[in-house]
Amino acid sequence: MSTFPNPADLARLDAFDMAGAPRLVFGSGCSSRVGELAKSVGGTRALLVTDAGIVTAGHAGVVTKSLSAAGLEVVPFLKVRENPTTRDVDACLAVARAGNVDCIVGLGGGSSMDTAKGTNFLLTNGGRMQDYWGVGKATKPMLPLIAIPTTAGTGSEMQCAALIADEVTHQKMACLDPKVLARVAILDPELTLSQPPRVAACTGIDAVAHAVETAVTTKRTEQSLAFSREAFRLCASTLARVLTVPADLSARSRMQLGAAFAGAAIERSMLGAAHAAANPLTARFGIVHGNAVGLMLPPVIRFNAHLPSVRAAYAELAVHAGLAESFDSDECGVERLVKRVEDLLQLSGLPQSLAELRVRREAIPALAEEAAKQWTAGFNPRSVGVAEFVGLYEQAFEPRA
Ligand SMILES: [Zn+2]
Repeated sequence: MSTFPNPADLARLDAFDMAGAPRLVFGSGCSSRVGELAKSVGGTRALLVTDAGIVTAGHAGVVTKSLSAAGLEVVPFLKVRENPTTRDVDACLAVARAGNVDCIVGLGGGSSMDTAKGTNFLLTNGGRMQDYWGVGKATKPMLPLIAIPTTAGTGSEMQCAALIADEVTHQKMACLDPKVLARVAILDPELTLSQPPRVAACTGIDAVAHAVETAVTTKRTEQSLAFSREAFRLCASTLARVLTVPADLSARSRMQLGAAFAGAAIERSMLGAAHAAANPLTARFGIVHGNAVGLMLPPVIRFNAHLPSVRAAYAELAVHAGLAESFDSDECGVERLVKRVEDLLQLSGLPQSLAELRVRREAIPALAEEAAKQWTAGFNPRSVGVAEFVGLYEQAFEPRA
């Protein structure tokens, strides 16, 4: 006869308030449905926000054809740049205004999504990007946004945040508002086949980090955990295959869905110390986000795992992904989790220590000061200040044992 747990042993669940999510359309080739989907949200004149690489890859052509076939006018903005600034948003806004658009299609990586969202803020609510830095600053409804990611990583298609840098001060502004969330997210894994290997590696590691960090934040709930666990299972088991056999569409599908679920987890749980430590590395040394996060994640996992409840949460993640057995100790689960992250980083061919990236040790105090000020540091399950960040950076200097 099976034994049932004693009710007294069952952990109490935290309350949550489930926010809306985009309509999620997933499947190989489904980006050709964008016309029908744009029409379903009332679109007649669509602003297509993308970059030159996506045009060359042929994806913009497929999307334009589908929109036109459904009777929509297409107003293209094809000049998205990486890490968009207020100047990029202004340029896109001018095209949107001149085209009198009534819906927006963001096609590409995180930068296309951010440019599309930033434009939506200003087009519908006026003012400048700085006015929306923070949470819920927009008062008027926005145009329906359709997000079509071509990378598997940021999960921006599931999030209500636009990240736009101030053109003058270079300050990255996170502008969050539920109204800017995409109405429809179209996940077509075929579009991710065109990702260059380095992009697939960096965005893939980032998605894994999103799943791991969201699983333990102070804001996590059962709902966010469901997304974190499934995201980690999909990404941690698939990224190696994507890196070694890039043409495997089935692996690409799992990775893209995992990255979107990880994005949904961020939307509900925020991030932690690995992202807080990574941001100054990107800002000061130009280290690519996914590489910076991947380097900082193992020391952060070990640091957080000192708390028994967090250690158990990491172990649960490892068990759910098949990296450990439920009868293994939590310590064993944590080590398997760390090893998987380190193995993926090694397989990706990305530098594995700050020394390898030529970061100077003298920079650590300043980096730690900045990391401690990052918003995401506040959601880390174990309290992190300047002294703790110094320790985390020190560990990231040494290559894996
Ligand atoms: Zn990230």
